[in-house]
Amino acid sequence: MSDPQQENLHPETLAIRAGRTVSEFGEHSQSLYLTSSFTFETAAQAAAMFLGELEGYTYSRFTNPTVTTFQQRLAQMEGGERAIATATGMAAIQAIMMTLLQAGDHIVSSQSLFGSTTNLFANQLSKFGVATRFVDARDLNAWREALQANTKLLFLETPSNPLTEVADIAAIADIAHAHGALLVVDNSFCSPALQQPLQLGADLVMHSATKYLDGHGRVMGGAVVGSDKLIEQIYLHVRTAGPSLAPFNAWTLLSGLETLHLRMEKHSSNALALAQWLETLPMVERVYYPGLESHPQHELAMRQQKLGGGVLSFVVKGGREAAWKVVDAVQVISRTANLGDVKSTITHPASTTHARVAAEVRERTGIVEGLLRVSVGLENVADIKHDLLRGLD
Ligand SMILES: *Cc1c(COP(=O)(O)O)cnc(C)c1O
Repeated sequence: MSDPQQENLHPETLAIRAGRTVSEFGEHSQSLYLTSSFTFETAAQAAAMFLGELEGYTYSRFTNPTVTTFQQRLAQMEGGERAIATATGMAAIQAIMMTLLQAGDHIVSSQSLFGSTTNLFANQLSKFGVATRFVDARDLNAWREALQANTKLLFLETPSNPLTEVADIAAIADIAHAHGALLVVDNSFCSPALQQPLQLGADLVMHSATKYLDGHGRVMGGAVVGSDKLIEQIYLHVRTAGPSLAPFNAWTLLSGLETLHLRMEKHSSNALALAQWLETLPMVERVYYPGLESHPQHELAMRQQKLGGGVLSFVVKGGREAAWKVVDAVQVISRTANLGDVKSTITHPASTTHARVAAEVRERTGIVEGLLRVSVGLENVADIKHDLLRGLD
């Protein structure tokens, strides 16, 4: 039994109701099916299910009812036909690439990427004959010029981490499609509450559900959303190769989704207030946040995102020494590289997430020694400001 009439519901309602099922017991909260396998009524039923002639559950590497509910809910929230859940965000990217590409194919990707994504493209996929060209995502000509006859897929992360560079999803989707390639967008930073890449022309959206979809830093997870045709192919890879989402994690993520809209609005209003305040401080050289009017792509950001999101970064005067002083002085904000949590976090990209990038590349691309990234949580913003001031004065 499912909740009826989900077609015309608003996004906040879908986040709570979509995909919901109720068992014979009439439970009000979503049930957790913590089981690795399922039993069959007869040998004939088992045979029909294994052949795919009969729909049903056989083994949780293939599908599990709790995971199905998560997939259906997220698909509706992104406005896609179908979703496939994975164990982590990286597993989602890996599954997309293993499914849609083969040796000899070429990827064009934005260069400001989550570190493991860069590593996967540059050092793992390359072993299997898939080459990647990295471009400045803001430069549409750079995307066009990087295309080769064997380019099958464009990969984009927007806004980028940690400098919040914003790229034009609709324009890059047009470039991909004119070339007969697919556009995949990493929507982990915005979540469907703030940005819906499929509505802007992307073919697939992927998530690190570990971030805002859970929102509380509890579980790992990932997902890919898109057309029934593409997701069916990725599903066949996932059920065989095995990077499947655990039922308990799906259950935790479902409770995260219920408050996603509320959280993203508050993350964004807290981040905007903090960014505006940081801009007024004499010891702060520069603030990066898409919601600020001073952001070079503020207009584009506000066109394709509902709000600025929860992540900002800023440069303090005095280089690494001054930046580390801020990190070491905080007492409320957590010192951790994770993001997308109700708890604010702070990190020094040049010595953590980007430490393996050559120093001159870091300087050239804006990851300077004075740069700090804050994932703004849901605490009272006055307490976050006060905490940052401990090391800023
Ligand atoms: C964290 C993250 C990933 C990887 O997700 P995991 O769940 O850690 O595997 C991918 N993209 C972005 C933008 C991320 O922040």
